[in-house]
Amino acid sequence: MSSNVRFTDFKSDKQPTWCPGCGDFGTMNGIMKALANSGTDPDNTFMVAGIGCSGKIGTYMHSYAIHGVHGRSLPVAAGVKLANPDLTVVAAGGDGDGYSIGAGHFIHAVRRNVDMAYTVMDNRIYGLTKGQASPTSREDFETSTTPEGPKQPPVNPLALSLAAGGTFIAQSFATDHKRHAEIVQEAIEHDGFGFVNVFSPCVTFNDVDTYDYFRDNLVDLADTDHDPTDYDAAKEKILDSSKEYEGVIYKDESSVSYEEKFGVDQNMSDIPSGAPDDAMDLVREFY
Ligand code: SF4
Ligand code: MG
Repeated sequence: MSSNVRFTDFKSDKQPTWCPGCGDFGTMNGIMKALANSGTDPDNTFMVAGIGCSGKIGTYMHSYAIHGVHGRSLPVAAGVKLANPDLTVVAAGGDGDGYSIGAGHFIHAVRRNVDMAYTVMDNRIYGLTKGQASPTSREDFETSTTPEGPKQPPVNPLALSLAAGGTFIAQSFATDHKRHAEIVQEAIEHDGFGFVNVFSPCVTFNDVDTYDYFRDNLVDLADTDHDPTDYDAAKEKILDSSKEYEGVIYKDESSVSYEEKFGVDQNMSDIPSGAPDDAMDLVREFY
């Protein structure tokens, strides 16, 4: 690991195609700052992204990366980390990718507690497919496919994580650059699954959950007496739908990652050289 890495070292030479003003710019910059501040470098970093506007992040960053299948970033990221625990692994995606198509993977990744970070760019809408209601859209949020709103309460991703045994649950706001980077850094450095739901406004299709809305309604837990190690206090905040919270909401300081608990055999040379062929023979046999 290098100690003089700058966040710009994590920028690729690709020009983002996100709409001007999209929250994903701030989310990505904060992730890059968090990585640089945590002392890792691009050669030691692996980004795994799902599908959606958010899924392009791996292309715009300079690191190892996989732009994977819709909703499947988490099992891929866990596999990367278990194959090479020396890597800093960050999975990224959107609210549709993570809480709808990938909802099952989310719950199981949380409870497995592999040492990695998961940042969800939550804009409460499907942006890439031009503005349909997502799992975190408000009950009355009108879109072309839900003209009277989805008529069902939004998913509370923080509550899902807590219920699944989450050991690090946080929320940040893409445009609060310093706080967002600090929170993501803490998720990266957490020994286990560091989950950050990032409010990352879609300026093109969501005129409700806007920058102004979050600026007016966000409560930074750093300005309160909230103790993130207090489970009951965290639960109270997570179930309080009257406010939007920013900060580390819950942190289990006794968290031990999956790989630390069970060990990982890093000696890849132990894998017999004929394994891929044998595996393919098995596949042919069954299909
Ligand atoms: Fe961002 Fe929305 Fe544009 Fe997608 S459609 S790039 S989420 S502003
Ligand atoms: Mg979305």
